[in-house]
Amino acid sequence: QKIFSAQGLTKVYTAGEVQVHALRGLDLDVYAGEVVVLLGPSGSGKSTLLNIMGGLDHASGGRLFFKDLELTALDDRALTAYRRQHVGFVFQFYNLVPSLTAYENVALVTEIAERPMRPDEALALVGLEARMDHFPAQLSGGEQQRVAIARAIAKRPEVLLCDEPTGALDSRTGVRVIEALTGINTQLGTTTLIITHNATIRDVADRVLYFADGRISRIQKNETRRAAA
Ligand code: ADP
Ligand code: ADP
Repeated sequence: QKIFSAQGLTKVYTAGEVQVHALRGLDLDVYAGEVVVLLGPSGSGKSTLLNIMGGLDHASGGRLFFKDLELTALDDRALTAYRRQHVGFVFQFYNLVPSLTAYENVALVTEIAERPMRPDEALALVGLEARMDHFPAQLSGGEQQRVAIARAIAKRPEVLLCDEPTGALDSRTGVRVIEALTGINTQLGTTTLIITHNATIRDVADRVLYFADGRISRIQKNETRRAAA
């Protein structure tokens, strides 16, 4: 089952008189339950695509569907509603509230979601049940990122979009974060797109998309992963 379908998707940023073509007619289908990794040089359009898929930004041309919903036809308000209902985000920086515990940081979003998990359930999914009452400053960088992941999944989004979630972590700690993400995919079936340079991801992803200059230049499939699941 297709969860995203992009046809000829373009994005042009205009800064004064300069135009930057961030996406140059991108075609892509993403299937429900996949783990997809986006690789490629800085500036090749990876974040731009995630932002458009997540409803944080509008495309300039082409079409993008989330199931039957055409995201490229939505206004800001409808796009925000889509994002709040269906999408969880994880970024390089965790954006936790320093004065709240891990539990309370997750509870902030479960209070406004329709059918949320309990905060302790979400924290258990990332292996942090023993750290619920810690404040961000008492947690390591990797643990803080796992709290941010718990916060992102607590509303049970169908899609989890991760933009350099390991970017601020050393590679070993980054592996733990990748494991948390793939563990969630296995347990909840959340469709997961990840921009990361952490090399371990290539073994655990269903597909790796290589970006070059606003397009996907190559797709690498990992046949072993689904077979093993
Ligand atoms: P990647 O995630 O692969 O590093 P991005 O999607 O962030 O690439 O950026 C693609 C191109 O779009 C780059 O040339 C970048 O400088 C440009 N760009 C991204 N965001 C903006 C913006 N808000 N305004 C102007 N240019 C932007
Ligand atoms: P909201 O309900 O506040 O509109 P969502 O919870 O649906 O937002 O998810 C979008 C979130 O992503 C927003 O809180 C926004 O502040 C955050 N966000 C957007 N871009 C970035 C970024 N580059 N780094 C960190 N957070 C970001």
